[in-house]
Amino acid sequence: MSTLISTVAAGFDVEKIRQDFPVLKQTIHGNPLVYLDSAATAQKPTAVVDAIRKFHEVDCANIHRGVHELSQRSTAAYEETRAKTKKFLNAKSVTELIFVRGTTEAINLVSSSWGRTNVKEGDEIVISAMEHHSNIVPWQMLCEEKGAKLRVIPMNDRGELILEEYEKLLNPRTRMVAVAHVSNALGTINPIRRMIEMAHRAGALVLIDGAQAAPHLKVDVQALDADFYTLSGHKICGPTGIGILYGKAKLLNAMPPYQGGGDMIRTVTFEKTTYNDLPYKFEAGTPNIAGGIGMGAALDYLNRIGLDQIAAYEHELLVYGTAQLEQIPGLRIIGTAREKAAVLSFVIEGIHPHDIGTVLDRQGIAVRTGHHCAQPVMDWFHIPATTRASLAFYNTSAEIDKLAAGLRKVKEIFS
Ligand code: PLP
Repeated sequence: MSTLISTVAAGFDVEKIRQDFPVLKQTIHGNPLVYLDSAATAQKPTAVVDAIRKFHEVDCANIHRGVHELSQRSTAAYEETRAKTKKFLNAKSVTELIFVRGTTEAINLVSSSWGRTNVKEGDEIVISAMEHHSNIVPWQMLCEEKGAKLRVIPMNDRGELILEEYEKLLNPRTRMVAVAHVSNALGTINPIRRMIEMAHRAGALVLIDGAQAAPHLKVDVQALDADFYTLSGHKICGPTGIGILYGKAKLLNAMPPYQGGGDMIRTVTFEKTTYNDLPYKFEAGTPNIAGGIGMGAALDYLNRIGLDQIAAYEHELLVYGTAQLEQIPGLRIIGTAREKAAVLSFVIEGIHPHDIGTVLDRQGIAVRTGHHCAQPVMDWFHIPATTRASLAFYNTSAEIDKLAAGLRKVKEIFS
């Protein structure tokens, strides 16, 4: 392997880690797979696959409702993930953690339940110019319904939010600030601690979209003083269709249920239903039990490696990758924030990102091309799309070298 891995502690053995990911062992179009699309979804270690298999083969039963052994086992395993998530995010209580399908559902839950009861005509919701569509559209829908106003924090050419402009947007009408911890399209790590403080001073609540932060950074919702924080299981090496909404208990307690059905009730008559306590009030119907258990195994796996180790290693990869890509003539990196996580988004003059992605795929290199569900970011940079290589702790500097070589080949073909 090449030049990298200097400051990372000797305990971080990427080749050993790669053995935990069977999917990485395959060839694509005759070349070893180079998976650089972890911001879309992270690969799953054997421990996660095994936990899901064990649930289906050994413990399979519905949860919270059976006295029999299998139901007891599956309930315990599912609820254990809630306890693990409490530790992972440093929440005060397990009652503050709601299982959802992922970040998209978490944001929709807050915009629907909290939004419908707390936002009225003339109120304002603040988002940022770099949000994923899932942190734009639900708020836009709420604003349309209520006659409220959506306001947008602008960014600079590096893809950093302009905090002086943010300050100006905050006022007594601001009800909610909803902002990404880490941008999926640019990799920018936003100064959310400071932004939360500023919002609170103005009397607004804050929802942090943590979809791209949870896989890369240690998160402490109490230290941040976040009112709501979201994560998607599939981006932290867990399965799809499961995620977490964290909310402060006093806010969640005051919010009406999001959906009605089984498990979220205490009593039901045709005249009146009373609701269950937190967190179950927000968890109607049979959940993704296997997904929840799989996510628990993913949290264990990440904790075994250590988020600090992951962040340090990925930072080195990012620095190395940035240097390699910058040497390619005509290539421009989109998103050059001073605080950045594992995303390399770029354009190459005269070559469409879809052509870049297709040629790279023939070499076994998986990248994402398009607007990355962040069309306003593309509009801001006056580009239709980018090619995005997103890194994870199982990537190597040798894979970055392959990406750089692959891009040189792209240039040869299209010049
Ligand atoms: N927010 C960000 C920053 C994302 O990157 C994504 C997914 O890519 C989402 C939200 C939506 O997450 P999910 O599709 O898991 O609900």
